[in-house]
Amino acid sequence: MFNNNTISKFQQLETPFYYYNLDLLRQTLEACREASSKYGFHVHYAMKANFNPKVLQGIQSYGFGADCVSGNEVLAAVKYGFDKGKVVFAGVGKSDKEINAALDADIFCFNVESVQELEVINELAAAKNKTARVAIRINPNVDAHTHHYITTGLDENKFGINTWQLNDVAETLRKSANLQFVGIHFHVGSQITDMEVFKSLCIRINEMQLWFEERGFKVKVINAGGGFGVDYYNPDTNNIADFDSYFKVFKDFLQVKPGQEVHFELGRVLVAQSASLISRVLYVKNGLKKNFLILDAGMTELIRPMLYQAYHQIENLSRQSESPEVGKSESLDVGSQISDLKSQITKYDVVGPICESTDCFRKDVELPQSFRGDLIAVRTAGAYGEVMASSYNLRDDVQSVYSE
Ligand SMILES: *Cc1c(COP(=O)(O)O)cnc(C)c1O
Repeated sequence: MFNNNTISKFQQLETPFYYYNLDLLRQTLEACREASSKYGFHVHYAMKANFNPKVLQGIQSYGFGADCVSGNEVLAAVKYGFDKGKVVFAGVGKSDKEINAALDADIFCFNVESVQELEVINELAAAKNKTARVAIRINPNVDAHTHHYITTGLDENKFGINTWQLNDVAETLRKSANLQFVGIHFHVGSQITDMEVFKSLCIRINEMQLWFEERGFKVKVINAGGGFGVDYYNPDTNNIADFDSYFKVFKDFLQVKPGQEVHFELGRVLVAQSASLISRVLYVKNGLKKNFLILDAGMTELIRPMLYQAYHQIENLSRQSESPEVGKSESLDVGSQISDLKSQITKYDVVGPICESTDCFRKDVELPQSFRGDLIAVRTAGAYGEVMASSYNLRDDVQSVYSE
């Protein structure tokens, strides 16, 4: 929901742009901090979800660490004030240049995804006369029950080290003088809302830490990764995820030994609800079978629907009071009003201007009858939105607007 003042403000602005609700961001961060600190858990923000400078500054001010997946993210984390002692570096294809940058930055830990990578980090650390702290990213073969494009923890995925390779890992760690083993790392996928998945993960983690301990390796850090999802269907009524339930699963099912630290890498759940993509209707095209709303934003601004078949709620802000999707959960109270308006509800394929047939936000979206110039909000766009923007078709850079 956007209040009338905000919508009037939007009317003055050039579209498209990302609108950030910084107040909601702060409330979300506070909720996460409170729920995690209750158990002494450490949270790293997965920067790839959104590295907008204002967002990064907000997040680091809450004391979270950073989870990086490129050398440039490591450098940005340090630049935006994240404590280098709380920076972790994952990624299945770290280049020598990136590993060197992270060694120079003295980060907390590399999350290592293959035996060969262990050997390379050891060599590069030796050349600098340094010791690299490493955690082993294990592929736990836990099904995240999420979209197959965003699962990462199955044997068939490219990520992590499969359990049958762990003997090699142990041997390599023993003979690598410039590596210090600190623990084990997991990340099973994204947009996971079924707590059973995290429970299964805990059970696998318990087995894995036993495996290492039995072979004389001290597991100081258990890093359970990220992947906790948000409610894309109810961006107003369920705008802050249930962090208490999430962390409680790990409290209840992880066997944490004295002196051990439990780490998380949350991305989406911290930032997704805090931004919407705001655009205008350029044209309304009525076809024989289909009506199209052609927006001034497309896959160059928000590619998730096209890349992952992701759902985003779409609202016509210029006709907010007539919208069927706004305040869906309250529709019982206003049932009669809604039915009065039903006559004007039209189904549109909401599409972008890019020269690709896949450039469609969603098909058959029920909206009030819409017109050229109407403001359209694509909700829950704070994660994997602005960061994936591209200049394809030589488009302008997408702008950001902040609520303060
Ligand atoms: C992307 C990623 C995350 C964050 O995932 P979310 O679904 O945004 O929470 C955490 N850890 C690693 C290694 C990742 O690649």
